[in-house]
Amino acid sequence: MSEFIPLATPNIGGREWEYVRECLDTGWVSSVGSYVTRFEQDFAGAVDAEYAIAVASGTAALHLSLLLAGVRPGDEVVLPSLTFIATANAVEYCGARPVFLDCEPDHLQLSPEVLRTWLEEHLGADGRNRKSGAVVRALLPVHILGHPYDVDAVGRIADEFGLVVVEDAAEALGAKYRGRPVGSKSRLAAFSFNGNKILTTGGGGMVVTSDEALAERARYLSTQAKDDPVRYVHGEIGFNYRLTNVQAAIGCAQLERLDEFVDRKREIAARYDSAFEEEDRIQTIRGAPWAEGNAWMYTVLLEEGAPGPDQVIAAMSKASVQVRPLWQPLHRSPAFAGVPHPPCPVAEDVHARAVSLPCSTDLDPVRQERVINTFLRQFRTH
Ligand SMILES: *Cc1c(COP(=O)(O)O)cnc(C)c1O
Repeated sequence: MSEFIPLATPNIGGREWEYVRECLDTGWVSSVGSYVTRFEQDFAGAVDAEYAIAVASGTAALHLSLLLAGVRPGDEVVLPSLTFIATANAVEYCGARPVFLDCEPDHLQLSPEVLRTWLEEHLGADGRNRKSGAVVRALLPVHILGHPYDVDAVGRIADEFGLVVVEDAAEALGAKYRGRPVGSKSRLAAFSFNGNKILTTGGGGMVVTSDEALAERARYLSTQAKDDPVRYVHGEIGFNYRLTNVQAAIGCAQLERLDEFVDRKREIAARYDSAFEEEDRIQTIRGAPWAEGNAWMYTVLLEEGAPGPDQVIAAMSKASVQVRPLWQPLHRSPAFAGVPHPPCPVAEDVHARAVSLPCSTDLDPVRQERVINTFLRQFRTH
């Protein structure tokens, strides 16, 4: 049996032990502590924003961001159908309803053209969806696979139609849009430190904003909306969403290596791209002119005449290499059955053809060569 090569695993090789040991030795293990503060400050610096508020997960970061954007029960929030389900779940947690739109075929991001067309057809002068009667409150675009969506194009549409933008940047830490870190250009952005993300705290997330009042409110809502810390007076219903000092300690150590992680991911992607150049039945996903992606999850599309994703995944699994399909588009998800949506043919086509290949930051060229050879073998025998 050959050694198993997983899709993406955490890279814990820096000062994590040292920082976590300090938390344990000093007893500062919970949601207050110097590492939480330091992680927030270092993170805000890394993404070029004024404020960062550490929370328990990327999903919690999205939930809080949507509340801060003013999303209320009964509202609608527009997002791409091709994303991880957490994006849409956060909308539901607000009592709001997701509107799923299609992506563009080149970089798999929310299509500004589709977005504009949908808004022109549906948004009335009173800010309501003419068909459903609900207030369309916010746009929730996602930097899919760590490649920036067209931030300026979506931002212009948001301004034109009077909508606030919350960026789902869960996969995109370290990516840049026209030279600026993603998450710094909109009112609010949410990041994730789940185990398979480019940087991990085991589990965790971050709300990012450059608005002081929003930052204050994010902190307030994430700590049970405490008005008087001594007498247990709470102004409203809040959440227990804070990140712990132990997790933040891991985050600080991970953040020190962010540039290195992004470099590694890009090197891995470049090696795959060049290995697949000669095979017409493998379509690689090229970066947009505005984008410096972080190459978080290396994904290709299988062309006509190639074996399908299921067949490839099964064959690779036999060779101890983990390969995954992309998410089921959310307009097709049983969890969102009955939610009306316009057709999303691109998302469906992408889902039918996409596979993600191993791209852990510590994947060395020798093991990657084995992945490449095993993968290309499927095409020779087909
Ligand atoms: C990972 C991810 C999330 C959720 O983050 P968690 O930390 O797992 O809660 C949200 N949106 C996208 C696009 C993601 O990839």
